[in-house]
Order: sequence, then C-alpha cells, then structure tokens
Amino acid sequence: MAAELIYGKNIAAAIQSELAETIQQLKSQGVVPGLVTILVGEDPASQSYVRAKNNTARVLGIHSEQRNLPTDTSEQELLALIAACNRDPAIHGILVQLPLPGQINEAKILASIDPAKDVDGFHPVNVGKMVLGEPCLLPCTPHGIVELLLRSGVEVTGAEVVVVGRSNIVGKPVANLLIQKRQGGNATVTLCHTRTKDMAFHTRRADILIVAAGVPKMITADMVKEGAVVIDVGVNRIGMSESGKAILAGDVDFAGVAEKVRAITPVPGGVGPMTITMLMHNTVQAAKTAAGIQL
Ligand code: NAP
Repeated sequence: MAAELIYGKNIAAAIQSELAETIQQLKSQGVVPGLVTILVGEDPASQSYVRAKNNTARVLGIHSEQRNLPTDTSEQELLALIAACNRDPAIHGILVQLPLPGQINEAKILASIDPAKDVDGFHPVNVGKMVLGEPCLLPCTPHGIVELLLRSGVEVTGAEVVVVGRSNIVGKPVANLLIQKRQGGNATVTLCHTRTKDMAFHTRRADILIVAAGVPKMITADMVKEGAVVIDVGVNRIGMSESGKAILAGDVDFAGVAEKVRAITPVPGGVGPMTITMLMHNTVQAAKTAAGIQL
C-alpha cells in the first residue's frame, strides 16, 4: 500500500491565502500587522529560518523588521530591545530566534516578551492558558500539526495518538492540544521519551504517530501500525549535496514506513511550512486583538 502524502506546503499555502485576505481587511481599517524577528549571533540555520519568516511576512503584507545582534550581545541589551518592541504600537509580534548564546538566559528572555506579542507562544502565560484551554497565542509547530490533521480530514477524536519527544516547543504542547476538549482535540495521547521502556510497543498502537525526537530515521516500518497516519516533525541535516545544499531527513524512515501506513508527511514539505504559517497566523491574531477588531 502506498501512503497518501500530507503536503503541509499545500495546506500552508491555503492558510496563507486566507491570511492575506484578512491582512487586506485589517489594512482597510488602518491596521498593518507588524512582526519583529530578533536574531542573536550568526548560526547559519537560524539565519535561514529568520530569513524565511521575514520573506513570508513580506509576501503576505505584514510589516516585518529583522534585528541582527552580535553573538556577544549581553542579556541586558537583549532585554532592552525587547522592552522597546513591547512598547512599540507598530509591532504586534516579537520573535526571538532560539537557541540563544550561552551568556543569555533563554527563559528570562521569553518571559520578558509581552504575552500579547508572544507570537511563538512560549511565554509562561500563554503556555498556562493553552493548558487550561483558554484563548491565547499557541506555539506554532504544535498548532500547525493540529491544523494539518484537521485540514487533511484525519479523525483525531478518540484516536490513539502517540507522540515521540517531550520538548517544550513540540512534544509537550502538541500532546496538550490533542487532549483538549474541542475540535482538533479529544484524542487519547501517549507521550514517549528517552526513558520510555518499550517505545515500539507504544508506536505500534498509534492511529496517529507524531515524531519529534531529532533522531534521523529512528521510526522504522516494524514500529508502525498498518494504516496509521504519521506526522514526521524531525528536520535532521544528514549531509551536504554537491551544490552545497543541506540534505535533510526526518525522524521517520520514510521509504519503509510509507509502504505500510495510510498517510505520512514528507520531509521537507510536511510540517515545516506549517510552522512559519502559524507564526503569520499568530501575528495577524495579535494585531486583531490589539486593535479590538473581530473579522
Ligand atoms: P529536543 O528539544 O531535542 O527534544 C527531543 C525530544 O525527543 C526529547 O524529549 C527526547 O527525550 C526525545 N528523544 C530523543 N531521542 C529519543 C529516542 N531515541 N527515543 C525516544 N525519545 C527520544 O527537540 P525538538 O526541539 O522538540 O525537535 C525535535 C525535532 O523536530 C528536531 O529534528 C527539530 O529540528 C524538529 N523540529 C522541526 C520543526 C518544524 O517546523 N518542522 C519545529 C521544531 C522542531 P528526553 O526528553 O528524554 O531527552
């Protein structure tokens, strides 16, 4: 059986065209959504992520500013920049690209962002509201996964979902969103990590398997149930092409697993485009909330 491919990039394009319309409506009411991205240091992967975020913002008509700070930036300097962005009425979303250099306390930085402008959804106030099921800015990758499932017509209600990975940016929040008592939730979720005793026992039970471990091709065909839906979040650089482009692999052994399951996301082109799109969604949402506009 050849699996159906869930192309996040197509679903992301559909969401982006909805967003572009909303942005035009906001502009007609005098509101231009504004996003600032802050990059500390010169990590090439971070540079390319930030570039992609700014490009997408511009294409959609979001006002976007990129602030590049040197690697030796102090915590105080970064806090001062964030405080200025918090005060700036033209900025609705603030994104600090992670990871940060060692001299800067990541948790302190994330907590200094105004929760209303926290478009990454990492501020403790937003995390708390997410857990409580209250309206808030949701973390982009987990929210993107929920949208991907919804828009691909995958039945989540009552499904056995197994998540591999318990990071604060993917595993924990996606598990949390999928247990919420609302559309896109109502699943029965198991969360696996490095201390899980028999991971294959769990992954083989999954109707929906979500893998975010950062270990290339760790999920093999013998670890999945026939007919399952597999969401591969992993983005691992496993080499370099002759033209100097990074060769990427997911956390799932795509060729083997795709033979057995009902549907699977490719890497690249699966979850990745959804993450950027949900960042744009959050920026628009933050702008609407700030202006008190409901569309
Ligand atoms: P992370 O912070 O390194 O967390 C990895 C998690 O996986 C940890 O909870 C770890 O368990 C677990 N894990 C690692 N190896 C395992 C193993 N052999 N068996 C069971 N569990 C294992 O990673 P992350 O930030 O969540 O990212 C995960 C992957 O997703 C990476 O490849 C990253 O590049 C990718 N990612 C993609 C997007 C996107 O937009 N497509 C966004 C974010 C991340 P312990 O807690 O026990 O250590």
